[in-house]
Amino acid sequence: MLFRKGASWPVSREEPSHVIDIAVFCETEKGRKVSMDFSRNPAGLDLARMDPALWAKYANIKALPLTAPPYRDSPLARLKAINAPSVRWLKDRGIDLEAGDLLELAPACQHFQGGVKIDERAATTVPGLFAAGEVAGGQHGANRPGGNALMDSQVMGKLAGGSAAAMAKASKPAAPRPRRPAKAAARGTPIDVREVRRTIQHLMSMRASIKRTAQGVKEGLAELAALATRPWDAAEAGEAFLAETRSIALVAEMVLTACGTRTESRGPHLYFDSPESTTPRPRQDPDWRKYLVLRRGPRGKLVIEARKPVEPDWPVVQQIDG
Ligand SMILES: Cc1cc2nc3c(=O)[nH]c(=O)nc-3n(C[C@H](O)[C@H](O)[C@H](O)COP(=O)(O)OP(=O)(O)OC[C@H]3O[C@@H](n4cnc5c(N)ncnc54)[C@H](O)[C@@H]3O)c2cc1C
Repeated sequence: MLFRKGASWPVSREEPSHVIDIAVFCETEKGRKVSMDFSRNPAGLDLARMDPALWAKYANIKALPLTAPPYRDSPLARLKAINAPSVRWLKDRGIDLEAGDLLELAPACQHFQGGVKIDERAATTVPGLFAAGEVAGGQHGANRPGGNALMDSQVMGKLAGGSAAAMAKASKPAAPRPRRPAKAAARGTPIDVREVRRTIQHLMSMRASIKRTAQGVKEGLAELAALATRPWDAAEAGEAFLAETRSIALVAEMVLTACGTRTESRGPHLYFDSPESTTPRPRQDPDWRKYLVLRRGPRGKLVIEARKPVEPDWPVVQQIDG
């Protein structure tokens, strides 16, 4: 792991879990594996240096004497006491923590903070299209308080459903639209659209996940542009897969463009000066207390605009991962 003695581990005090994300990402980026070993405490872990208030709070929540043996000395004992089903669940899938098996880790997307812009009725700017859940953006600001995806999916889902039903009742069935003529075919050797999708997934994992840099964004956009110059072959994968991959490519372009525009760190967006750096730039208030809106402009070009959010007049909720 990357926890070197004397390393200036970065990150704002409010979001210390990013230190682990960055460390894991840096290792996997180099092609190495990161695993959790539940058989012993991490080397160098000095529990005496941990904030006693944190221990007390945790012991209180779980009603377990976590600072006493065996919990103090064994991550597996702690895990079994707190979440025994997870140990059984992993064993059923071939990872036996009790036998000393290691649990491999990798960064993954838990929630997309942005999304389709909606109004208070969950309506998008496309008439008749409503969005709710994770696909709808702008409800959480730069970060999502733990558990708030429920608000996305249930509260906004109810609103979206109600709005869509009201609109449907008030509308006449639309006449079918003529199909738009297909775009001019790209040139060059066709590439299997499944390969296109894998390439986009990989480039987004590398350029737009934990570590974002100007160089990574530039290279990612260039890779996307290169893919777009070749015809995408959907003979095996089918038209639906092709259409979805076109949308994925568009979203990837939008995300990379937004990542490159916000030259600070905020919430889960961590922006670094170089690919080698392990310390994200700090957040830059008041310049970047803004959110970004992307749309298609003249001749299909992406237009990006920074807007000021409505300032809440209630206390801001602290982020808790979840
Ligand atoms: C590991 C992990 C842990 C999480 N933990 C928490 C947590 O503790 N608390 C919390 O609040 N949130 C958590 N989240 C986030 C939360 O689970 C999601 O934000 C939420 O489930 C999103 O719900 P959704 O209905 O918007 O989207 P989804 O659940 O993604 O539903 C979209 C559905 O659309 C379907 N679909 C896609 N394309 C098509 C198509 N073309 N035609 C028809 N159907 C289609 C998909 O199959 C899917 O069923 C977690 C997420 C992850 C990944």
